[in-house]
Amino acid sequence: MQLRLYNTLSRQKEIFIPIKQGQVSIYSCGPTVYKYAHAGNMRAYIFVDSLVRVLKYAGYKVKSVMNITDVGHLQSDADEGEDKMNKSAQEEDKSPLEIAKFYTDAFMTDFARLNILTPTIMPRATDNIQQMQEIVADLLAKGYAYQTSDGIYYDISKFSNYGKLSGINLDEQLSGARVEINSEKRHPADFALWKSAQPNHIQQWDSPWGRGFPGWHIECSAMSKRYLGEVFDIHTGGVDHIPIHHENEIAQSEAWLGKKTTNYWLHNEWMLYEGGKMSKSTGNGYTIGELIDMGYTPLAFRYFCLNTHYRQKLNFSFASLDSAQTAYLRLLSNVAQHKASMQRTNQGIIDQYQQQFESAIADDLNIPMALGVLFKLLREPKSIDIYNLILVMDRVFGLGLDSGSAPKKSVVLTQQAQLLLEQRQQARADRDYQLSDRLRDQLAQLGYIVKDTKEGQIIQ
Ligand code: AMP
Ligand code: ZN
Repeated sequence: MQLRLYNTLSRQKEIFIPIKQGQVSIYSCGPTVYKYAHAGNMRAYIFVDSLVRVLKYAGYKVKSVMNITDVGHLQSDADEGEDKMNKSAQEEDKSPLEIAKFYTDAFMTDFARLNILTPTIMPRATDNIQQMQEIVADLLAKGYAYQTSDGIYYDISKFSNYGKLSGINLDEQLSGARVEINSEKRHPADFALWKSAQPNHIQQWDSPWGRGFPGWHIECSAMSKRYLGEVFDIHTGGVDHIPIHHENEIAQSEAWLGKKTTNYWLHNEWMLYEGGKMSKSTGNGYTIGELIDMGYTPLAFRYFCLNTHYRQKLNFSFASLDSAQTAYLRLLSNVAQHKASMQRTNQGIIDQYQQQFESAIADDLNIPMALGVLFKLLREPKSIDIYNLILVMDRVFGLGLDSGSAPKKSVVLTQQAQLLLEQRQQARADRDYQLSDRLRDQLAQLGYIVKDTKEGQIIQ
């Protein structure tokens, strides 16, 4: 199966060629864990999940890394305002560690509810401060960064490729720039690599430049390289990341390593609500927990997302979620009728449908078109062969169409359980089955029953 993916860098669909044959490495910008994730955030991760599932369907071994941002993300992406973690910790009268743990657990609960496969590794920014400092020191030594009274900044004028992802024109940006808050910056778009901390800033570390905390962007340069190597295949994020966060990540990584470090950049479009972006900081939107309380099935929300291509905006409304829920439940009962049938279908017909399905998903993850193929298939005379093909397709949809694979209840994964699961996944990859069994027992003691399926570990 030859995949074509839309690369933001080249602004066109490209044939996907991995660095290592048969393997794919993916880095996805993960959540900032200072509040509950909302449905719009989950749209972003359902997109990542579809990408992973399509790659696995195509036969690739996938290594996916999704970071947890638990430090350094200021209210504005352009280094202004308070640190989001610091602010939540003060508001909720908890430590940043407690805040991060609570919202990471909530995030993983949503992943399980939405049948999103757990990424291979989910590193925390605060566990990678040393790696970030090493990159900052290197950028200073190479002349790409400079020191001001409030930290270390990246000098974008030194990086000739700045703006290549978003196509922004820095001269235009400069002439339209408002009065700079930080007058020591050489260019308004220069960004913080390391910020000096005031005494009331809770999260702060020693560094060669005094006590402080990292800028937001540096964590993704550090963690992607630490866990995937200097050059990796695919980087994902929301479209909001293109002009600042990812542009800055490219500037840092390429100046540091002296080469292009990511081959394909994929970005999902917005989920909108009442005309605006669904947003965590403004509180415009709903969490998955709130939707469940209103009577919606999480997988109906997943189905709702899958009906719109990831590069199209998606308007959230209760009327459209109601229709999605009705259609999803009808879909389940229709699939059950095929499951119950003793009839057979000619293999040629089955193959034709499978080919149509595969060409849809291979065309820049056209899941809406693949769902169209599924609905056409469902209208064929009921047969067990059709049911079996639906199960194959559901490896990509993740809609729990075999009711046995749908999560029966929401599972809250604690950080300890998450860690054990990751270790077990690694043990299985290493074929160390003794260790894998021991880890299964430890998880059982914590109350988690692990089942191994073709798609990996499933928690019950
Ligand atoms: P955050 O936790 O705010 O850093 O966001 C996590 C991810 O969700 C990022 O990849 C964002 O691009 C994405 N995201 C945030 N809001 C939306 C939205 N309304 N629609 C789609 N994706 C979003
Ligand atoms: Zn990132």
